Amino acid sequence: MTSQRTRQRLVDRLIEQGVTNPQVLDVMGDTPRHIFLDEALSHRAYEDTSLPIGYGQTLSQPYIVARMTEILLGAGGKLERVLEVGTGSGYQTSVLAQLVSHVYSVERIKPLQDKARDRLRKIGLRNVELRHADGGYGWPERGPFDGILSTAAPREVPSELLAQLAPNGVLVIPVGAATQELRMIIRDGESDKFITQVLEPVKFVPLLSGVTR
Ligand code: SAH
Repeated sequence: MTSQRTRQRLVDRLIEQGVTNPQVLDVMGDTPRHIFLDEALSHRAYEDTSLPIGYGQTLSQPYIVARMTEILLGAGGKLERVLEVGTGSGYQTSVLAQLVSHVYSVERIKPLQDKARDRLRKIGLRNVELRHADGGYGWPERGPFDGILSTAAPREVPSELLAQLAPNGVLVIPVGAATQELRMIIRDGESDKFITQVLEPVKFVPLLSGVTR
């Protein structure tokens, strides 16, 4: 299950699905997805599917993790500080942390955050800071961010996230309810103009407000 061959199969599938960024493929081939799942499900970690992580939440499908990361990296700007909204299992966090300088990740469900913290420690990632809060408000004390990636879908793009984008910063976010689309939004230089590109239909859990203990 944890063998290099199993992970290579996952990488081969990502390539078939159109993922091309070699850094993203390398990192996904190296990252043990099974440790981000509860033991009962860990044998399914390398399937190309989203999987439950408790509290009604899911670890995203490998394709979507790869795709969102590739979009963020491909936007072209420097990526020193990246905010993730929705830590969940911590898997996407760990992929990001191997590709950018600092990751700040916000989760509203405390027990999920606690588990993610243990897992990130276990694989030795030290450039990640976690916060228990409503990520719809971003993390103003740590911004502005070169990149923001949301792994939960709001109905409308929160203005706080746009406000926390650095000059030329990029926001990758699913938007909608019953039907959702993935959007890439780039701040135009230092201006308050934002350029939006609609990328592909997606299915994420909703961005909810408030926090739970
Ligand atoms: N990146 C995660 C995906 C988890 S699913 C992974 O790789 O496992 C999305 C996560 O977003 C859930 O854990 C959910 O609790 C969280 N979430 C939803 N609304 C949120 C909000 N307003 N603030 C922070 N986290 C939120």
